[in-house]
Amino acid sequence: DELISQIAAGEVVERPASVVRELVDNALDAGATQVNVKLMAGGVRAIVVEDDGLGIPPEELPLALKRHATSKIRSLEELESVATMGFRGEALAAISSVAEMAIATRCEGAPHAHRLEARSGELKIAARSRGTSVEVRELFFSTPARRKFLKTDATELAHCLESVRRHALARPDVGFAVWHEGKLVEQWRAGSAEQRLLDVLGEDFFGSSRAVYAEAGPLRIYGRAGLPEAARSRSDMQYVYVNGRYVRDKLIAHGIRSAYEDQLHGSRQPSYVLFIDIAPDRVDVNVHPTKIEVRFRDGREIHQQVRYAVQDALALSRA
Ligand code: ADP
Ligand code: MG
Repeated sequence: DELISQIAAGEVVERPASVVRELVDNALDAGATQVNVKLMAGGVRAIVVEDDGLGIPPEELPLALKRHATSKIRSLEELESVATMGFRGEALAAISSVAEMAIATRCEGAPHAHRLEARSGELKIAARSRGTSVEVRELFFSTPARRKFLKTDATELAHCLESVRRHALARPDVGFAVWHEGKLVEQWRAGSAEQRLLDVLGEDFFGSSRAVYAEAGPLRIYGRAGLPEAARSRSDMQYVYVNGRYVRDKLIAHGIRSAYEDQLHGSRQPSYVLFIDIAPDRVDVNVHPTKIEVRFRDGREIHQQVRYAVQDALALSRA
């Protein structure tokens, strides 16, 4: 089982940023209103994600580290609805097979918190307010071949920040803060969707982009699209979310790009943040363990609606 977990970990945990992605995901699933991420050495030495969510009951704590031990599927209907949220119950098990892990957690009304150390299985009484802290230390300590592939701390930190940014864009109602080596490096307070886009992506993007909004049957498309003249040489400002999940999807990217037609010079890349909400039965997000790819039932329709939505926002002609 250890070996299976390590193989599964290879799918889920590529670098510190993958751990950050999964832990922040769990914090948000637990209903957190504030998520704090504390990193050491780009996340290689330590990643601590603290939330003020529901917490984990002590009797469920050892279970949380077992593969397929998700607490998030309770009925067949729920199983169907989480099919849109990607695979389940792998992340903590996978991470704990390639790093030192400890979880401290407290539920509402509990007399105190509990802390579980994954390796020893030791469960202790601890002190903290409601919520959960997951600590991950020495990533890939037992798999030096994997550790060797990690880049400099600065590069790994940048990837970790990008993981938090992707979550933060989708959840303006939640506050996020990131510390590196004890120094606060990013802080986004809970607020409006517009304020969050401004805070995370900056005034340059905001000022040179237009609001996107379109509805078509079971489909809602909204966000902001950068003006063609503000297109960049790099594609690092392209964010697409399907039903609140960050995805990288060629079909959507192509739909957006085609809205710009011949307005983009050379290989210039448009900047955008696009949220696509669609009836769950029209999309399958259960394609890859990192939940980043999607498959639409009606790809051509989506492609066209995305294109129209961006064209309308930029007041470009529909050819
Ligand atoms: P999944 O998120 O797919 O259920 P994970 O391995 O990420 O699987 O987490 C396993 C379980 O641990 C979750 O289903 C949840 O019950 C619990 N859990 C993990 N992180 C948290 C958290 N921050 N707050 C509350 N419960 C958590
Ligand atoms: Mg999870």
